[in-house]
Amino acid sequence: MLTAPATVQSALRRLAALGNLLLPGYCPLCEALLRSGEWLCSACREQLSTAAPSACSRCAEPYHSPDADHLCQRCRAAEPPFIWLRAAGLYNDSAATAVAAFKYRGKISLDRALAQLIITRHAPRIREFAPQLIIPVPLHPRRLRRRGYNQALLLARQLGRQLDIPVDHTSLIRTSDTTTQLHLSAQQRLNNLRHAFALSRPLAADRVLLVDDVATTTATLRACCQPLHSNGTTCAAVVIARASI
Ligand SMILES: [Zn+2]
Ligand SMILES: [Zn+2]
Repeated sequence: MLTAPATVQSALRRLAALGNLLLPGYCPLCEALLRSGEWLCSACREQLSTAAPSACSRCAEPYHSPDADHLCQRCRAAEPPFIWLRAAGLYNDSAATAVAAFKYRGKISLDRALAQLIITRHAPRIREFAPQLIIPVPLHPRRLRRRGYNQALLLARQLGRQLDIPVDHTSLIRTSDTTTQLHLSAQQRLNNLRHAFALSRPLAADRVLLVDDVATTTATLRACCQPLHSNGTTCAAVVIARASI
């Protein structure tokens, strides 16, 4: 039999759960009032979905000219090991705020909204590619311990759930803890990352969708694809935001 305080506690918990359903929510980025069923306000969604006038068809490097229709210099110099890379939007101020909150400030509840932005824009392309697995860009175990979670895995799980594709976060591993790459040139980043990833076991999948938060030089995604490419697996990749150097 339940004691009185336990009954009260249980009633309060039920009430709180009901409150979450009935009370209006606030946008986790700008604190605007959300409409029912929304995870981000429409203004933030629009900002995070901002597209470049045109972009590299392979790696989504943004161009300023609306009618540019060619591969970017980096893809022409070294063909990427992924067949395409696509982002929910450009790395603008809103994307920087969202990614920082999601990645460094523990706002893991943004996972669903951010995955939804990728799906809204790229679901047909992903379905056409028909990946058998979704693989998040792995963190080195040391960094994972420090941060407590891998933001790319949270995103991958939401994408997997919403697209009904299994997520594999154990086959691709990070073998070296590369230092923060912001101060390095593109070539230095690539050299630094060259052997940073490996497969822990052979993978049966022919097609894999890689997931990360931001792509800038694409060095990390290129490096992730290398062991998959050697395994005979074709990679495509999605990110929240596409930055440019
Ligand atoms: Zn907002
Ligand atoms: Zn490109």
